[in-house]
Amino acid sequence: MEITYPFAKVFTDSTNKLNVFFLHDTQHTTFEQIGDIGNGIVDFCELDFTEVLEKIKSSSTITVSEQNFEDIKNIFWNAVDLLKGKHSYAHFFLNSEILRTFYASQKTKVEMVDYLVFLFHYYANLQKTYSDALEMCLNKEVLAEYTLAERYMMFCNLTPNFTHHMLRSMYGIAPISYGKFDTSKLIAFDDPKDVDTRKVLQNIHRDSNYEVSMWQYFSIQSLEEMLYLEFMEMIKRGILAKRCALCDKLFVLADKRKRDYCDRIYKNNRTCKQVGAKMKFNKSVEEDKFLQEFQRIYNRMYSRFYRFEDLEYNETENSLTKEDFKAWVVAASKARQDYKAGEISGDEMIALIQRN
Ligand SMILES: [Zn+2]
Repeated sequence: MEITYPFAKVFTDSTNKLNVFFLHDTQHTTFEQIGDIGNGIVDFCELDFTEVLEKIKSSSTITVSEQNFEDIKNIFWNAVDLLKGKHSYAHFFLNSEILRTFYASQKTKVEMVDYLVFLFHYYANLQKTYSDALEMCLNKEVLAEYTLAERYMMFCNLTPNFTHHMLRSMYGIAPISYGKFDTSKLIAFDDPKDVDTRKVLQNIHRDSNYEVSMWQYFSIQSLEEMLYLEFMEMIKRGILAKRCALCDKLFVLADKRKRDYCDRIYKNNRTCKQVGAKMKFNKSVEEDKFLQEFQRIYNRMYSRFYRFEDLEYNETENSLTKEDFKAWVVAASKARQDYKAGEISGDEMIALIQRN
């Protein structure tokens, strides 16, 4: 399938950053190193779509006509602008999808509006899929007895659509030396006249271990593709996520250091890390018998559910359906959050998640 502007070229290297060229149109390109890998997914899961969806709702009450189409377009532009600066790449790709729908599709006006309404709801729902993915595949505090590979397969069984993604990859000369992207050697796409391309290419060649420093990159056109790429890089590299011992939100473990708290603002301009270090009752799983019990129950619930999913295994009264399991996870996460916030006791949390 043909790639249309705007899109992004993404190079991965040995660092935990994604090297992204945002191609806005044939004339304008911006380059950004986005890191650490994983933060894009976590930040996406937390992106607040309520206002955006609220704005978009107003478009569905209007009957599309030649006269009001500009107004309807503005509803979408204003909605996507609410996400500006709130995420490393969500705004770029959603904005691109609106552009493509209005200016590069064969759809009728009514179809365009329907499609965009669908699209924004689709992404709001995708947040849940990715939080489940992080929790199930990369949070070692649950399902601890399984390997990462087993857990990834479990997630794919649970979410079959997830395995149908495809990414387009291409080749290009890139300034990668010793496994790392060298940003000082980027050819300035914005104004090629000012660049001595021959000299730049010679320099790239000198620094490279290869005859031609040819690298595979991904041509990414949608937010969904970008999220998928970032998530798969997390899986491939074994970049783990963990729940903050204070606010219970997921955060990415960028290195091997032991961390229990995230860097989000918790209260009065102080981060969970700053507040958490001073609090005695918020402990990590290893130090807290109630959280350990929580983990044990979670694992048990999961294996009951997983047996149900296993086609070889006949349904028994002891097994759980996908819906039962998902509902249980939501309730259990809420109980854990309340416990960490000091609103309920450890015994109360355990009582809430017990189920026969
Ligand atoms: Zn936190």
